[in-house]
Amino acid sequence: AFAGKEDVKMSDCLFCKIVSGDVPSKKVYEDEYVYAFEDINPVAPVHILFIPKEHISGVSEITPANSEVISKIFEAIAKVTAEKGLDKNGFRVVSNCGADAGQTVFHLHFHVIGGTKLNWP
Ligand code: AMP
Ligand code: ZN
Repeated sequence: AFAGKEDVKMSDCLFCKIVSGDVPSKKVYEDEYVYAFEDINPVAPVHILFIPKEHISGVSEITPANSEVISKIFEAIAKVTAEKGLDKNGFRVVSNCGADAGQTVFHLHFHVIGGTKLNWP
């Protein structure tokens, strides 16, 4: 667990609102478990966020009870990146968790970035 997660109620959660459509987004992919949309502040030519429709605060909150969606997310990442041709030159998947990583939205999300040669921090 990380400090701050208790402050986030699902009704106040930005990405829960994106899933529900209360906050608009540029949808890239959707299925029963997963929603993916363009990052509003892209750091690379391709920058897509993949999230579980169910609220999970971050990687630290993944448990045996909720982890099935993680495989669904990665299946979606493989499908979407292949459709966009990113599998040829590669791409990166990142999830920032907690303060040291600079997590700003406390609904689990996987950044998929690519479309250019990436530097490593
Ligand atoms: P992190 O800093 O890892 O928690 O990532 C949060 C990401 O959400 C950042 O890359 C933001 O640019 C992105 N973001 C914040 N608000 C929105 C929004 N309304 N629509 C799309 N992306 C957003
Ligand atoms: Zn949420």
